[in-house]
Amino acid sequence: MKWGYTISQPRAINLDTNDYRLSNWVLNNEPSLLRCFGCGSCTATCTAGNLTSFNFRKLHHALRLGEYTRIKEEVSKCMLCGKCRLVCPRGVNTRNVVVSIQKAIKEYEAIL
Ligand code: SF4
Ligand code: SF4
Repeated sequence: MKWGYTISQPRAINLDTNDYRLSNWVLNNEPSLLRCFGCGSCTATCTAGNLTSFNFRKLHHALRLGEYTRIKEEVSKCMLCGKCRLVCPRGVNTRNVVVSIQKAIKEYEAIL
């Protein structure tokens, strides 16, 4: 029966059972990401964010939670312009984070 609405999927995340292989790979490849304190400057200045729903801060959050389906959907929207890197107050190489995620997805495609 159609009720005219849908029920959202539960967003509960089990941090004990999550798979952090991709996350660890990216953090090893670009350790500056550990300095991110979530200020959102990258997101506010993002070129892709002006045209799409892309949001670097949300991408980072999803990465650290091991939500790979969401990451795979989002990461290709980045245009790799590098503007976010210029404004980051913590010196995070955000552009290389995105490139690392793209590489890691290729590396782990078979297991994700
Ligand atoms: S600008 Fe830098 S510190 Fe701020 S959320 Fe983005 S990556 Fe993190
Ligand atoms: S490199 Fe990607 S995340 Fe950074 S500002 Fe450009 S489009 Fe946005």
